[in-house]
This record gives sequence, C-alpha cells and structure tokens, in this order.
Amino acid sequence: MPPMSRREFSESLLAGALVPPAVNSRHCAVIGAGVFGAWTAHYLQRAGYKVTLIDEYGPASSRASSGGESRIIRCSYGPDEVYTRMAKRSLGLWADFFAQTKRDFLRRIGVLWFANPGNEYAAQSREMLRKVQVSFRDLSFEDLERLYPQVHLPTGTGAIFEPDSGALMAREAVQAVVAEFVEHGGTYRHAAVRTPSGKGSLRAVQTASEDSIAADAFVFACGPWLGKVFPELLGKRIFPTRQEVIFFGIPAGDNRFLAPQMPVWIDFSDNRGMYGFPDLETRGFKVAFDLHGPAFDPDSGNRIVDPEKVAAARAYTAERFPALAHSPVVDSRVCQYENTSNGDFVLDRHPEFENVWIAGGGSGHGFKHGPAVGEYMAARVTGSATPAVEPRFSLASKGSRQHRSVY
Ligand SMILES: Cc1cc2nc3c(=O)[nH]c(=O)nc-3n(C[C@H](O)[C@H](O)[C@H](O)COP(=O)(O)OP(=O)(O)OC[C@H]3O[C@@H](n4cnc5c(N)ncnc54)[C@H](O)[C@@H]3O)c2cc1C
Repeated sequence: MPPMSRREFSESLLAGALVPPAVNSRHCAVIGAGVFGAWTAHYLQRAGYKVTLIDEYGPASSRASSGGESRIIRCSYGPDEVYTRMAKRSLGLWADFFAQTKRDFLRRIGVLWFANPGNEYAAQSREMLRKVQVSFRDLSFEDLERLYPQVHLPTGTGAIFEPDSGALMAREAVQAVVAEFVEHGGTYRHAAVRTPSGKGSLRAVQTASEDSIAADAFVFACGPWLGKVFPELLGKRIFPTRQEVIFFGIPAGDNRFLAPQMPVWIDFSDNRGMYGFPDLETRGFKVAFDLHGPAFDPDSGNRIVDPEKVAAARAYTAERFPALAHSPVVDSRVCQYENTSNGDFVLDRHPEFENVWIAGGGSGHGFKHGPAVGEYMAARVTGSATPAVEPRFSLASKGSRQHRSVY
C-alpha cells in the first residue's frame, strides 16, 4: 500500500474507510487511538500481530486527553526511577520514530523546572537524573536572571534544565503514529465499542452500530473513558478532572517568548502548580494548571474556559512573565486528566478476562511515555519477557481515594 498524504489519511479517517487487507494470523483489537492505544497498536503490529485500532471520535480528537496541541516531555520525576527511565526511553523512541517517518513533532527546546532552594523533589530529581544518565544543568538564581530576564522569580529560586527534553506536538504526533500504523497494513475503524460482557475468553466486542469485531486479544486504551467502559471495575478508580489551558498572545515582534529564548517551563517555586510552553507554532504562550480541577465528563463536559481560571492564569503570568501582563487571550482549551488514585498508570490484564488488557491512567503525565507504554503493553499481550512486569502498573495497586504522589 503506498504511503498516504496527511490529507488523504484525514479524509479516509472521516469516511471510516481505513481497512487494508489482513496479513497475520494473531489478531488484537486496540480500543482507543490516543497516545497509549496508538503506540500499543504500533508495537503489536511490529510483533507480527494483525491489529485493528478503533476509536469512537478519531485519533487524538478534541475530547481525548491526547488531543491537545503540546505536551511536555521531560525526565525529572523526583525519586521515581521507573518514570525517569521510561521518559528517557520514550524520548529516544519518539525521536527515532520521527526520524524514520520524516514527520517531526518533537521540539527539543529544553525544559526548565523552577524550584525554591531546598525543594526535596528537585533534589531527588537531580540524583535520579545522574543515576539514569540524563543530561541536565543546575541553574542558580543568578543564572536564571542572566539567561531568562523575561522570567521574574522569587529571589533564590533555582532550576533544573534538561536540554534534550522539550515539547511534543501532541495531536499531530498521535495522528502520525496512527498514519504510520495504517501505512504498514494496520486497520483503523471509527466505532464506539460497548462494554464487553461475560468472563473467561472474550471472542468479540460489539459496537454501538451493532457490528461485531472479533480478535484473539483486546486492549482497552480508553483514557478518561475507562471508568465508563468498565464501570464496576474502574468507575471508582479513574478520576477524570477538568484542566484548563490558556494561550496569551505575545507582544508584536518580541522573540523573548519563542524557543530557544524560552524553553518549556514547570514552576515548583510555589504551590500553584503552573507550567507552560513558549509560543509554539504561533498559537500563543501557553499557561496551564497542573492542580486537579473538578470531576469532568469527557463526552459531554463543557469545554469553554472558566473566566475565573483566565483571571488566575493572568495574575500568575503578570507576576512571572511581566511583559505578558496585558496580553490578550488568543486561544484556550479545556481537557481532562484521567487520574488514578496516586498517578501511577494502569497497564494490566482485566481480572475477569484472560485476553483483555487495560492501558490507561496517564494522570496528567502520560503523554511523553506513549512509546514505552506501547512497548510494555505489546510485551504483556504477546507474552514476551521484556520489559519486566512493573508492580506499580497493576490494577490491584489502584485505590478508590485520590492521593497524588506522581508529578
Ligand atoms: C491539559 C493536559 C495537559 C497534559 N500535559 C501533559 C504533559 O505536559 N506531558 C505529558 O506527558 N502528559 C500530559 N498530559 C497527560 C496526557 O496527555 C495523557 O495522560 C495521555 O494523553 C492519555 O492518553 P490515553 O491514550 O490514555 O487517553 P486518550 O488520549 O483520552 O485516548 C483515549 C481514546 O479512547 C477513545 N475511546 C474511549 N472509549 C471508547 C469506546 N468505548 N470505543 C471507542 N473508542 C473509545 C477516545 O475517543 C479516545 O480517543 C496532559 C493532559 C492534559 C489533559
């Protein structure tokens, strides 16, 4: 099958017509074409499976958690070695994928993590970055003042700078993984899959339009919908929360808020939990809230930004980036995190079905890990020994009360 142009791909997606001929005997259906499902489909395909990837709204749609324009990729994770290693691996896999496919949606513009002196999470991050051999620089308050005079920080604030990390152009990156999957013979279906019933071995899933999709194995990578798809199992273990994102216009002709003058930034210097991006693709300077918002319905939730959040983002921006104090809001989005009780992913087998798997719980930090999650899930489904089973990704470790410990 000759490679499709992006336009042909989008048109085919809308027509629900991406169904190339079957080539392999083992068949896996992956439900959900967000970053977890797309990469899982990719690695199952590489393992020789015939794969059908299904999504009810389309790959990285506006409702999906993967549907934003940009996501941070960084390796600092405090003491969490598992995520530092996965992020490092994923960074390499994203870069390789984009190099091979000539679709480049990784911007290695660096990530700055501001923290006040003595911040324990930052100290643990430094130690772990050294251990896992991720290159970084420690910046003092004086370094920050000299290098980033457009940022106003409390005196004494320092930063970890990861020069090789940066931003992934999220929607386009996921759609590139799906396009590549289809170009290599994978099947994409536009369909809403119903909750499977019974137990033991699942033979097929039913869709809302009464189709039946049979397979040998099923991976449900339904992000914030997992609690709806499996209400009894996950209804109280996945917590979708409303997250607001505001884009401020930068002053005309001003390049201080463009990369490389301004990298991606995360602010741990106070407890407001803010982070953001320089003006990528001329969309504006992105300012976002990492603190969990109220519960949110990914199908029907109102995605108009709350004026109070705009005011809070403006107050923060005026303080931290004074040149943007009076900038207009040029764009805004409401997305949702799909949190587990503590922020660890759920990458595990369904307890009632021997051939049904669950991949989700990205918890506001999952995007960057898409490739490593895909590798992990493909290994679980195919029964390969590597990568090793990680107890933190088990369903059993997920509670029904939120107590976030991963950032
Ligand atoms: C505002 C915001 C900022 C974030 N920032 C970062 C960041 O900087 N760095 C980072 O690493 N992570 C970040 N994240 C987290 C990251 O984006 C998510 O963890 C990740 O995208 C989750 O991907 P997913 O594939 O699990 O879910 P999704 O992307 O939501 O995909 C699930 C898919 O399943 C489909 N689906 C659901 N139910 C069905 C069904 N019954 N039938 C068919 N299809 C179905 C949906 O349509 C959807 O496309 C952020 C998230 C948000 C919301």
